[in-house]
Amino acid sequence: MTKRDYYEILQVAKNASPEEIKKAYRKLALEHHPDRNKGNKESEEKFKEAAEAYEVLSDSEKRQLYDRFGHSGLQQSGFRGFRDFDDIFSSFGDIFEEFFGFGSRGARGHAVRRGADLRYELVISFMDAATGKETEIDVSRHELCNECGGIGTRDGAQPSVCSTCGGRGTVTRSQGFFSISTTCPKCQGSGTIITDPCKNCRGVGRVLISKKLSLRVPPGVDTGSRLRLQGEGEPGDPGAPPGDLYVFIRVEQHDTFRREGDDVFVAVPITYSLAALGGRIEIPTLEGQDHLDIPQGTQSGQDFRIPGKGISHIRGRGRGDLIVIVYIQTPNKLSKEQEELIRRLAEIEGSQVSPKKRGFFSRNK
Ligand SMILES: [Zn+2]
Ligand SMILES: [Zn+2]
Repeated sequence: MTKRDYYEILQVAKNASPEEIKKAYRKLALEHHPDRNKGNKESEEKFKEAAEAYEVLSDSEKRQLYDRFGHSGLQQSGFRGFRDFDDIFSSFGDIFEEFFGFGSRGARGHAVRRGADLRYELVISFMDAATGKETEIDVSRHELCNECGGIGTRDGAQPSVCSTCGGRGTVTRSQGFFSISTTCPKCQGSGTIITDPCKNCRGVGRVLISKKLSLRVPPGVDTGSRLRLQGEGEPGDPGAPPGDLYVFIRVEQHDTFRREGDDVFVAVPITYSLAALGGRIEIPTLEGQDHLDIPQGTQSGQDFRIPGKGISHIRGRGRGDLIVIVYIQTPNKLSKEQEELIRRLAEIEGSQVSPKKRGFFSRNK
């Protein structure tokens, strides 16, 4: 395997000063830091490569050896590079402490805050909620500044402690018997002062970005369902984990279907004659048109439950039911023939259902 040139890796000139080399390495180490590139093989390689280049070029003896004899010269001197991340972190602990204010992952002196959670509202159609959907969302959020690693200073050094509050972030004034604590006016509560701010973030340590995230909405979500995208919230303090992004789902109404939990209701109009005689009717389902056989003497408002044709249970297997409610639609326009037939029917039936048949009066006697 051919090894890349160390100067090329750090993107510095052959005569670069130690400061330039350090700055170049800081930038690469930040960009490819394993905490920010979980599972990214390419970043992993770049992080290791940069560490090795820095290890050599920051050491005047090794650098001389490399300048004169190249990689083979170093190998003959016994230089081996790094085995893994732990090797890098244990050798460079101090450097990382200086770069980012955090170092060998986890070992920190002061409490660091996790990033805030973010909320995003996603409106989806009834059908997308039923079948699930792959989608992309645009989230605007902050990200730790790449230039300074979130510290806010131009040279990456730790900001100095605020002289007004001594780093506490609050000042206390005595007023009569009371002492009142207020946010320090000089540092606005941060406890530190940045005299030479980073140009990229103007000393804030973070920059606003807009990011496209792909999202898999599982079938069965409903209004109020919440999806969590771990680590996609606001960044934490340098070295602390970011917050999470919560996507709240709102499902639009459907013209035909109504949902109750995982059951789906649909109302289907039928004629009086079909209700009386029974027969096959067309029904809409989530999968498209289907048919249903209704019995003789079906009443208006009667429902028919079709198991497993509703919405998928979001937890566990299976689906809800489809409930078809049929209702008799009275024609408001009659053809001559219809009218004649219905008149004949009316003669046979009489004008009203008899009280006895209705059962209403007998029950209330
Ligand atoms: Zn202060
Ligand atoms: Zn910055």
